[in-house]
Amino acid sequence: MAIRAVLLDIDGVLVVSWHPIPGAVDALRALRSAGLSVQFLTNTTSATQSEIVDRLRISGFDLEPDELTTAGVATAAYLRDHHAGARCFVLNDGPLDDLAGIELAGPGEPIDVVVIGSGGPVFTWEQLNVAARAVIGGAALVGMHGAKTWLTDDGICIDGGTFVGALERATGVSATIVGKPAPALFVEALRRARTDPADAVMVGDDLAADVLAAQALGIRGVLVRTGKYRDGSENAAEPRPDATINSIADLPRWLDGL
Ligand SMILES: [Mg+2]
Repeated sequence: MAIRAVLLDIDGVLVVSWHPIPGAVDALRALRSAGLSVQFLTNTTSATQSEIVDRLRISGFDLEPDELTTAGVATAAYLRDHHAGARCFVLNDGPLDDLAGIELAGPGEPIDVVVIGSGGPVFTWEQLNVAARAVIGGAALVGMHGAKTWLTDDGICIDGGTFVGALERATGVSATIVGKPAPALFVEALRRARTDPADAVMVGDDLAADVLAAQALGIRGVLVRTGKYRDGSENAAEPRPDATINSIADLPRWLDGL
């Protein structure tokens, strides 16, 4: 078997509302017994890496913090690689723990990079103007993910990606997006797995953001029929996923057949 690393989306693949998908805990065990490197990837920026590790452990999954790449962790890696030492202005409705080591611009201080995370009450008119003025003045614009909205019990809420779009429109500057389906999150997970794209497989329930985005980087893509999967969605895809399986429980057998 050529595969050395398995990249796993979390929500819809391992858990739904933090309840394990049937067979998922055993499937992870089987991947580890087969000697595969496992990396977990999530666009979530509203919970930290350590919070997600804790929740997954409570759900029965065995993992170490350095096996989980959140959009925040990948953003920090991207900023270290491309904007080393930059002063960052961050708008994110959530904790900033995953951005450890990134220098935050204090009030009134010069801003080198504007970083947009999860939407929420922090996105005030005043703060958006600070961000827009910084970008017009030459700061780079980085989105931790590209999600435009998310669904809550109250209805649709505006997410960070919408504010990234507004800032692009206001400033004429194009943002760099880090989270899926952009490459940076996959690149960081591969780096952590010390694996080339051709030796890795990505498993997700989102055809475009997980599977086709990974395949565009040369990673094999496997779609699961759990989570947000909708019947037959892969049949309209171009290219097709490398495989579609009923759930993560079938992944070890699929890998054995390679
Ligand atoms: Mg998912």
